[in-house]
Amino acid sequence: MLIDFTDKGLFCSAGNFYIDPWKPVDKAIITHGHSDHARWGNKSYLCHHYTKPILQLRLGNNDYQTLGWNEPVDINGVKVSLHPAGHIIGSSQVRVEYKGEVWVISGDYKTENDGISGAYEPVKCHTFVTESTFGLPIYNWKKQSEIYSDIQNWVRTNESNGKASVLIAYSLGKAQRVLQAVKNVTENIYAHGAVYNMHQTLITADIIPAGILPGITRVTPEMPKDSFRNSVIIAPPSAESSTWMKRFVPYSLGICSGWMQVRGNQRRKNADEGFVLSDHCDWKGLLQSVEATGAQKVFVTHGFQSVFSRYLNEAGIEAAEIKTEYGNDEEETTQELSNDTAEQVATDG
Ligand SMILES: [Zn+2]
Ligand SMILES: [Zn+2]
Repeated sequence: MLIDFTDKGLFCSAGNFYIDPWKPVDKAIITHGHSDHARWGNKSYLCHHYTKPILQLRLGNNDYQTLGWNEPVDINGVKVSLHPAGHIIGSSQVRVEYKGEVWVISGDYKTENDGISGAYEPVKCHTFVTESTFGLPIYNWKKQSEIYSDIQNWVRTNESNGKASVLIAYSLGKAQRVLQAVKNVTENIYAHGAVYNMHQTLITADIIPAGILPGITRVTPEMPKDSFRNSVIIAPPSAESSTWMKRFVPYSLGICSGWMQVRGNQRRKNADEGFVLSDHCDWKGLLQSVEATGAQKVFVTHGFQSVFSRYLNEAGIEAAEIKTEYGNDEEETTQELSNDTAEQVATDG
């Protein structure tokens, strides 16, 4: 096959390169900066221009080469190009062409244009490798604008009750979208160090257009408790049940994640509010994307592989599940929640 599924990752033997390998290799093409797709230890990295500063922040200095979208390069006679995946800033699908055969590897992707990540572009191919993080029919997203106004109303309500609003959003991708949502209702925005560092990286590297992201203040131990009254605080999932949160009391806790679509998950996470804001496709988005590629053969990676590939096969598109080591970026980590969801759906029929 043009791409083989090996124990190190997706491998193109004709071009002698890997895509998002999970073990160190000589040449790695990286779809995006989340830690399960962009790992440490490769000899060289090829990624979109916007992904490089993110990799530098997370992986330090390495041999990085960068490309824009739709700029083909030749790697050992194989034509390779990157195309917007709409998942997070810089996220790209990888198109690989050799002797007339075309494969597209989606990485993680989202079909709705969030105004930051670049608009997802369907790319025609013979074989499509797709993720399936939210590949169950129960996942059906509201429009971003509606979710943003839900978040804004919630912040206003908390303010009128004298409470701070703490929003849980992972630092790369979700946090920037949440900032977009809250910048119109408050100027009083604080962030956890992880969110702050990523924010500064994106601004310094000039990869998010000026004026899109608001100014934010890093939360530090010396800050008096009073500074947080009526403010908005953005924190990553790791901060959620830590003592770091105590300084914000009284506050209301909102979690922004696709997993919040399932009511029980919100309760389990002790959230006051769950906002179903995801950086991945919902069920319909996955199906429409697969159809738009025109692919005759589909390989399904991380998520609900078996449900999604079975559905495709029944719909007359040849599909198979692939085992990978993706699926622990901050949204996808909620493996526990995803297993519960699968069980729940199975018992609900
Ligand atoms: Zn991702
Ligand atoms: Zn992923």
